[in-house]
Amino acid sequence: MPRPIQALIHTEALAHNLRRARQAAPDARVWAVVKANAYGHGIERAFAGLRGADGFALLDLAEAERVRGLGWRGPVLLLEGVFEPRDLELCSRLDLWHGVHCVEQIDWLAAHKTHKPHRVFLKMNTGMNRLGFRADAFRTAWARLNALPQVDEISLMTHFSDADGERGIAHQVAAFEAATRDLPGERSLANSAAVLRYGRDPAVRADWVRPGILAYGSSPDFPAHDAAHWHLQPTMSLRSRLIAVQALAAGEHVGYGSRFTAEAPMRVGVVACGYADGYPRVCDTGTPVLVDGIRTRTLGRVSMDMLAVDLGPVPHAGVGSEVTLWGRAGNGAVLPIDEVARAGGTLGYELMCALAPRVPVEVAD
Ligand SMILES: *Cc1c(COP(=O)(O)O)cnc(C)c1O
Repeated sequence: MPRPIQALIHTEALAHNLRRARQAAPDARVWAVVKANAYGHGIERAFAGLRGADGFALLDLAEAERVRGLGWRGPVLLLEGVFEPRDLELCSRLDLWHGVHCVEQIDWLAAHKTHKPHRVFLKMNTGMNRLGFRADAFRTAWARLNALPQVDEISLMTHFSDADGERGIAHQVAAFEAATRDLPGERSLANSAAVLRYGRDPAVRADWVRPGILAYGSSPDFPAHDAAHWHLQPTMSLRSRLIAVQALAAGEHVGYGSRFTAEAPMRVGVVACGYADGYPRVCDTGTPVLVDGIRTRTLGRVSMDMLAVDLGPVPHAGVGSEVTLWGRAGNGAVLPIDEVARAGGTLGYELMCALAPRVPVEVAD
């Protein structure tokens, strides 16, 4: 028998979350963002749940090929555009739409031979200061693209730095509107946090929204709001089983560094899950975990292949009992990935993307 650890991908939950994006941004078309192998879910495994989207947005050309390989004939957008001139050949061949964020990408397009002009998304830098043209250069870039026979439609996009936080997006929306007011073309501004928090505003949802993390059931502005607040369902469950039980006397310890000390006699479960499975090593005593769908806590340090849990709240549990590290338990109880991430000082995004290749993944309903 293999190690009992397993990740489940919930197809129905992906579809549900995507519908939530549509409700929050009525009338906008929806890109399902599937970069980073669909946030660690696997593009092929997530596809059935996300195929109700209007298009797929990603970064990697090999991932774009995989989406086409699944038979998807609708829009596919390379969010960062191409990385070198010959990538444009694949864009022509697979009919990929691509972002244009720098002068070099325009030079490459101008030199590209294609019988079918490309749809491009010209990116404006409205304050994130990673990719895109500032206001004046944006208009010059637009005029240059507009004059190229290689370019068909030009859409306009920007990306928010603070949609999940206190600073918000008003300053970026204003900068985008000021620079694009008199330009034709479809617009795309909103990531998950902007969809959920500001999607009612037509200027924010615009023509296309780009939800990533919300589709995967993690709250983009946790802990201000949790996934339940936004009516999102977990799309990835990491489950394993107890492989041993220890009875500790008061004063005894568990795990490397003896970081946990029993204050009274207690039962400790040993779980087949460690940091080599993608569970964060920095999660210390007290990180929430479900045993047989009942909430308890981790104890001591996470090791490579194992971690320990408090069986106090689950006295009936023994070897073979189900353990849910995040997501949905067999009895339907939910442990939000965001809570585990917070205990590890990170985000649901990182935990999903860091699921280790050694963990077998199965698609469920
Ligand atoms: C990743 C990404 C998104 C999705 O962001 P979420 O916070 O996961 O919704 C949207 N737009 C761009 C340009 C991205 O790179």
